[in-house]
Amino acid sequence: MLPKHYEDALNGLRRDIDAVDGKIISLLAERRRHVEQVLALKKEHHQPAYHPAREEDLISDRRRQADAAGLDPEHIEELFRSILRRSRVSQTAHISRRGIRPGAAVLLVGAGGGMGRYFQKWFLDAGYRVRGLDRDGWDHVEELCDGIELAIVSVPIDATISVIERLTPNLPPDCVLADITSIKTAPMTAMLASHSGPVLGLHPLFGPTTSTMDKQIVAVTPGRRPSDCQWVLDQFTAWGAILVETDPKEHDDIMAIVQSLRHFATFSFGRFLWQKCVNLERSLEFSSPIYRLELGMVGRLFAQDATLYSEIIFASSHRRALLLDFVASLAENLGMLENGNKAEFNRQFEQISEWFGPFSEQALRESSYLIDKLIERF
Ligand code: NAD
Repeated sequence: MLPKHYEDALNGLRRDIDAVDGKIISLLAERRRHVEQVLALKKEHHQPAYHPAREEDLISDRRRQADAAGLDPEHIEELFRSILRRSRVSQTAHISRRGIRPGAAVLLVGAGGGMGRYFQKWFLDAGYRVRGLDRDGWDHVEELCDGIELAIVSVPIDATISVIERLTPNLPPDCVLADITSIKTAPMTAMLASHSGPVLGLHPLFGPTTSTMDKQIVAVTPGRRPSDCQWVLDQFTAWGAILVETDPKEHDDIMAIVQSLRHFATFSFGRFLWQKCVNLERSLEFSSPIYRLELGMVGRLFAQDATLYSEIIFASSHRRALLLDFVASLAENLGMLENGNKAEFNRQFEQISEWFGPFSEQALRESSYLIDKLIERF
């Protein structure tokens, strides 16, 4: 039995902590009210919710304040990043309801698909008149295209060129023709060749399960009459997306690495685990956090639709050539393994780590953060 004065003291201290927590919550509510005023002001002046420089300044300030107050700056940064993200998401959600060109008619081609349905919702919520065309709608293509200001092609990669060629004779001359295909060279060439009006290439680097466009990247390949396409880009910015301008070749070269190689390497890892009949559950019980993280990425791939990935991996002969190079590069390691040549491994390792240069530091920092989060939660 603990002495009564201990219980009393403990209860008193707990009440103090509860009172402080109550104040923190009231202060967060007060902060949100100020944020809403900022939102109203931004809305009035058609400004995007996200202001990267302001956020970074704020974080640096809070870190300094934390240090001065004897608190851990890392922890305070994490806390404020979470608060900022929350308020950014709700700001973006408010702003997204406002269209840059409300009432304009937008046609989504491939409207029944994952991305088609996703963008229909966003355009509808922003006040556009949205029309959809899918495989069975071609008999009505003329009516569907009548008076539209934007047509977005969102069909499987294999069908994109033929759909563009079939669609364009029906488009009003000043209509913006855009696509969201994950490759850009062939669709851009086809759009520019068959539509004489404004042309815009887009590639959202996210899928239809993404609930917010906040800070999501959209690659943009300008085609023709950029000033007539600007309102479309402004709409994406208003939804919170970050636009990265590129040209089709650069886009496709980088995407071959970012998407095709990465997914293929992940597929190959998963395939090998399957071939070896690895007991996943048991392996996780012994796992280091980094293995858990890797396995999470592999498992995530196989939780999705095969065609999504086959479309990306087999998108072009250029991509397949890169993957053949990758497999050949793996085979080059055979000799080293067969001979147990550790020295060769070390030599290559040093060489590659020199090539990675300062990025290695960043990679270590970011992956350590992810690992810490994983440990915290699971
Ligand atoms: P999806 O297969 O879910 O949908 C495609 C839709 O196009 C279907 O409704 C299909 O019926 C329709 N379609 C096919 N042929 C057609 C035709 N001839 N005429 C009219 N409609 C036709 O595909 P998705 O995942 O929505 O992808 C669409 C596009 O978006 C692709 O170009 C893809 O590269 C790109 N993209 C997809 C993602 C993603 O994560 N899913 C991300 C970024 C970009």
